[in-house]
Amino acid sequence: MGGGMRMTVDKADLVLHDGCILGHPESDSVAISGGLVVAHGHYRDLKPLVGPRTHLIPLTGRTVTPGFIDCHLHFMEGASVAAGLSVLRCRTIEELLADLRVGTGKSPPGNWLRAFGCDEALLRDRRSPTREELDLAVPKNPLRLRHQTLHGSWLNSRAIGLLGLERDDFAPQAGAFIARDATGRLTGFVAGMEEWISNRLPRVTPAELEARARFFSRELASAGITAFTDASARNGLDEISNLARLVAGGSICQRTSVMVGATNLNSLPALGQIAASRGIGIPAVKFLDAVQWEIPHLVRTVADAMTAGMDCAFHATEVEELETALHAIESARDRVPQKALERVVARVEHGGLIPPDYPERIAALGVWVVTNPGFVYYRGAKYAGEPGLIPFLYRAKSLAAAGVSLAGGTDAPVTPARPLAAIAAAMARVSVEGYELAQAEILAPAESLALFTSAAARLSRLAAGEISVGCLADLIVLPADPLKLGPAELLNLPVDLTIIGGRVVYERGRPLAAQSPTASLFSA
Ligand SMILES: [Zn+2]
Repeated sequence: MGGGMRMTVDKADLVLHDGCILGHPESDSVAISGGLVVAHGHYRDLKPLVGPRTHLIPLTGRTVTPGFIDCHLHFMEGASVAAGLSVLRCRTIEELLADLRVGTGKSPPGNWLRAFGCDEALLRDRRSPTREELDLAVPKNPLRLRHQTLHGSWLNSRAIGLLGLERDDFAPQAGAFIARDATGRLTGFVAGMEEWISNRLPRVTPAELEARARFFSRELASAGITAFTDASARNGLDEISNLARLVAGGSICQRTSVMVGATNLNSLPALGQIAASRGIGIPAVKFLDAVQWEIPHLVRTVADAMTAGMDCAFHATEVEELETALHAIESARDRVPQKALERVVARVEHGGLIPPDYPERIAALGVWVVTNPGFVYYRGAKYAGEPGLIPFLYRAKSLAAAGVSLAGGTDAPVTPARPLAAIAAAMARVSVEGYELAQAEILAPAESLALFTSAAARLSRLAAGEISVGCLADLIVLPADPLKLGPAELLNLPVDLTIIGGRVVYERGRPLAAQSPTASLFSA
């Protein structure tokens, strides 16, 4: 077999031939059957696996790479952002207002204009747009412009009026922040009310939701994403049933795992049934605001979740959040039976700020850090003004050196769902504006790639993330070997082909292909 490997199968469904197979310099081809990689090696040695029904894809020198596993994104938010107006590229108030004017020009008067992606800390003006500016730019539509972090929104006067925020009988919910100017007038920025606002906007029909999901899933496929974990803390029975329905109906083609919000644990039994019957995974519990919990309640909830076989994931961008998470994990472990403890993992999501001494503590606990190298690239300017913190921002190399297991997430839509950009950022640690951020934390190309392949697969318990016999045939084809490219080239590298479970779900330059789970690209 010329150094290659194979499983015993009759004929292959698909053979990718005459290119490079990442991790296997001795192989130029890979054969797939029943959704699995069944062989790789020299094409001439794989010929016996080629039958009349085998689909052949010539690689012509291109590289087969494991598909990307995004360990932390927000699918429905991403889908809704993809359906609205994105202002992510704007770097000045002027650009922002110009984009909003274009958006309003395309919207019928009176309809809500939904925009996403502003962050005042990333604007060169270093301030929020004012209510007057938003009113002038968007006079005929109520406007909701969501903050890039998804934690707040800017509203124009029409939106403020429709939502009744200036009515005498309006009482903000607990935790809401409504910004006012010196005279007491609303500035248009509100935080801590995101769900409240969403619930008051015109309802999105199920058909529209499905169309959005289909579009966003294809966008993920075009970025090479073959599996993801949805990390939304508000996930409960409704949200998870909805995602399961979209997966079962073929609107989402990726392997889908969904975290359940820590406040929704009472729905776990019902969720288990949904997961079992509809082919999604519910591997983890998401703790978003653990710092606000009573410690004994937090510890008990973590212990119960782990005992039930659930991973526990803690949002931690600030030191206080990291400290609370580690304390809760340390305290809960004693209450979890050893057998259960061996099966579950605890994860720190983001790990935005990790001070000295913490890496060793994180490593000793066996806690994973799900890092977001894309933040350094897309949101780096935000941190450039705080030189004292920079060495501790989105650390990677020093965590790995301390023995911490690392995987990656794009946190889409907070940053674009583009693992290649995040991998490039892990290798370069330069922001889009050119700020260098903690170059000591740069990862080697193979370590950077592993964040979204082999390491991500281990965290996600998927037999994927590498190309080997018996593994899931979740593969992508790239024009070149990603390990031989520099960050700048990786950033702009297109994905030619995305294969999930042996099925081609995306081909660059082709319109949306498989419309239903039963449609087959291989039928003549
Ligand atoms: Zn997130």
